[in-house]
Amino acid sequence: MSSPAGGALGAVQMTQAAIAPGAWLGLLGGGQLGRMFAMAAQSLGFRVAVLDPLESCPASSVSDLQITADYLDAEGLERLAGLCAAVTTEFENVPAQSLRFLGEHGVVSPAADSVAIAQDRIAEKAFIASCGLAVASHVALHEPRDLDGLDAGLFPGILKASRLGYDGKGQARVATLAEARGAFAAMGGVPSVLEKRLSLAYELSVVVARGEDGYALTYPVAENLHREGILAVSTIPSVSASEAISSAARAAALRIAEALEYVGVLCVEFFVLSDGALLVNEIAPRPHNSGHFSIDACVTSQFEQQVRTLTRLPLGSTHQHSCAIMLNLLGDLWFRDGTSSAREPDWRAVLAIDGACLHLYGKTEARLGRKMGHVTVLGERQQDVRAKALAIAHHLGVAPWP
Ligand code: ATP
Ligand code: MG
Repeated sequence: MSSPAGGALGAVQMTQAAIAPGAWLGLLGGGQLGRMFAMAAQSLGFRVAVLDPLESCPASSVSDLQITADYLDAEGLERLAGLCAAVTTEFENVPAQSLRFLGEHGVVSPAADSVAIAQDRIAEKAFIASCGLAVASHVALHEPRDLDGLDAGLFPGILKASRLGYDGKGQARVATLAEARGAFAAMGGVPSVLEKRLSLAYELSVVVARGEDGYALTYPVAENLHREGILAVSTIPSVSASEAISSAARAAALRIAEALEYVGVLCVEFFVLSDGALLVNEIAPRPHNSGHFSIDACVTSQFEQQVRTLTRLPLGSTHQHSCAIMLNLLGDLWFRDGTSSAREPDWRAVLAIDGACLHLYGKTEARLGRKMGHVTVLGERQQDVRAKALAIAHHLGVAPWP
């Protein structure tokens, strides 16, 4: 009998051990990623308990129970472990020891060890390189001495704290060795990576879902535009990447998931240089902002895959049925024209556009740079989607893109 890897045999294994709908699933972190996970889990009939220190976190209104506690709070973690058949996390900065603790009490995916690698840029880059994939030239910095005699070719560079960065936070652009010394000291001398600042042709990302049986699927390749270190626009499928580059990116993402023996949803971010070279930027051990298009444009969303992989149910199809552009809606849009009091954007204008799918995360306070929601625009042809997305951007005050 011939079947694709993880086909028929995988399905038998999964039905035996699958966690059935009706069971409780636990979630560490109740931000927007947790909120969308909870919605997908409830759609499949699961009950969701979220542990988050913030009472009114975005996932609180869409979960069956909230445990308001710190991620390291033993009592909160024990309650979650006692109630839930399986637990997952919405962000990589959840303490690895909390995941390990939960892992001792039941099913946890992704495993603490995979999350630990993605939590640490130094370990992450070494791991990616060990997969035979290219990363930007860099050096690991543990102490000021590590900056002595640095290769001048690394400048201009970007200094990135090894841990706890997101949306470009914990990063500094440095043009010279002296600036690098200053920035390293200003960051408190924490372990960091000094990375060469590359001239990027464009950026890509690939979301992978991988089940416990090793069967894995990738989503179509997203082309991502960042502004000030924050994702602004994703176009899916990528229009800049050739078939060969897209295939290489999907293969690289699968290779990483495989090497990590990853169970769950993972995203790999890539840089493409002007000569077509594909470099891995970083890994996110969770659903990713650039994968939000899958909610509306694909048969199965990245969040549903997170539920399926966690409960050992079969993966769903990652087929993309519509071209898509996703716009992130940052809190800045509430403060258009330099006003200091927040004003709700004109959602009517957005929803009046055919193919616009609006997602707001229920955050009550808009702040500059805060992710408040996203809108995915669907259509049959990429050029029509682009025209509609640009119209929405114009209504909302999002700057147009090339
Ligand atoms: P997030 O976790 O939100 O993806 P982050 O804080 O981990 O972001 P990075 O992914 O390292 O940050 O960087 C954010 C963006 O900054 C990149 O997507 C890219 O646009 C730019 N950037 C980062 N490193 C480099 C580099 N070496 N050369 C050129 N641009 C870079
Ligand atoms: Mg990134």
